[in-house]
Amino acid sequence: MEFSEKALVLRVGRFREIDAWVRLFSPSRGMYTAFAFGGCRSRRRFCGCLDVFNHVHFKVKTGRAYHTLLEGRLVNGHGRLRAEPGRLGMAVNCLKFFEAVEVGPHGARAAHDLLLEALATLTAETAPSRLFPLYFRAKVACDQGFFPPLAACHGCGAPSEDIPWAVFHVEEGRLLCPACPRPVRGTFVRLGRDAMRLLSDVRSAGPADWGGFEPSPGAAGEFSRLLDRFVTYHLGLSWEHGTFVKN
Ligand SMILES: [Zn+2]
Repeated sequence: MEFSEKALVLRVGRFREIDAWVRLFSPSRGMYTAFAFGGCRSRRRFCGCLDVFNHVHFKVKTGRAYHTLLEGRLVNGHGRLRAEPGRLGMAVNCLKFFEAVEVGPHGARAAHDLLLEALATLTAETAPSRLFPLYFRAKVACDQGFFPPLAACHGCGAPSEDIPWAVFHVEEGRLLCPACPRPVRGTFVRLGRDAMRLLSDVRSAGPADWGGFEPSPGAAGEFSRLLDRFVTYHLGLSWEHGTFVKN
């Protein structure tokens, strides 16, 4: 059996000199690995296709044990990402997080579209926000249903836009206003109104709009701590030596 589809190249590895394995992500299949036999030599079948960040139209042969890439046609190579270290670093961070989250098949299309838009934005923007990878993590976590809505205090129901600050109970994923009692145990992250608004803005907007956000250093710091604690606790991921590792 064969199928053709566009997919994003997340990772490429070589083996036996001229052969490659490729980790791909497509909107219909999610993440999968396929082999490109002779892929490192064949200019005709895989011209410029087998590189990370490439969006490629692949023809794939399905087998009982593994998929084989028959040929590819490059759709978009996001070339500018590789040319500038700052952009490349942010793109790698987003990609590694994306891979580590292990998006299920039902969330694949939304995740795929988000990643494509993020790469396009990182490629096109004059000066991407240094918070871009954090926004990306928040958006993936929200889209995939990991992140709880923080529109109101869990204790009394007060809308978060009406309270000056709140705490986020990391383990239970709940927002609590200053008037409501906190549980005795747990990790709490303080969030001012600006940080709560920032999270809500990131959740409702796409990567192309994130450049317009200009949070104060205080709000950016709270947002960063929130994401860090949340991702570590709920997804079991922490950033070490240039990649996300499972705790
Ligand atoms: Zn409350």
